[in-house]
Amino acid sequence: MRAWKFELIFLYHIRDVNFCMSTRTLALDDDLYRYMVDVSVRETPIQRRLREETAKLEMARMQIAPEQGQFMALLVSLMGARNTLEVGVFTGYSALCVAEALPHDGRIIACDVSEEWTSIARRYWKKAGVDGKIDLKLAPAAEYLASLIKNGKEGQFDFAFIDADKENYATYFDCCLELLRPGGLIAVDNTLWSGRVIDSADQSNDTKAVRAFNEALRNDSRVRLSLVPIGDGLTLALKLGVGR
Ligand code: CA
Repeated sequence: MRAWKFELIFLYHIRDVNFCMSTRTLALDDDLYRYMVDVSVRETPIQRRLREETAKLEMARMQIAPEQGQFMALLVSLMGARNTLEVGVFTGYSALCVAEALPHDGRIIACDVSEEWTSIARRYWKKAGVDGKIDLKLAPAAEYLASLIKNGKEGQFDFAFIDADKENYATYFDCCLELLRPGGLIAVDNTLWSGRVIDSADQSNDTKAVRAFNEALRNDSRVRLSLVPIGDGLTLALKLGVGR
């Protein structure tokens, strides 16, 4: 009798667990997304003002989501990162989030080619008091990263965020991987590309580049990998070292 009761309780429990859990990533509708933001996003007033100013620009869709900025800040804190790279600054929201999570002597080398967009970034970095942590390079990133490698900076960085022109993603990734220390992390933005990666009718150069990048990374033995479905898809690649 006792064993029978135990079995019944156990089955109930299992059913409950099945009901509460999912074997695949949950799709968020607008209400559930808003709930997630409400209960977890801790955006500062300056971050919010930057996001609102950026939302008025024609290229506003290039802005990362606030929960993504917060997630990257958490990663940087978790790793104890000090030296970081950013490829593609836009109006500076991601660099602002990362800079605020770095220690006082932490640095971001941030590359972009737009004076117009980065002038907005600079204004907010200054307001937030993190401008001293961000070294903005107005130069093509592939050239600048190559110059860092040439100047012996391999293995010197802890974290890199890549969010720029998609056709050069593979180049940016290879350069950042060289510049990272073993155990360093690369975060690559837009790897789900608004779902266009699975739209076979979309054969634009950007879409083809994101697909090729994702497919090449799947079997890249240099890194440990996770594609996190936050924002527009954020691929995390951890650089493996000797002994892995
Ligand atoms: Ca992006």
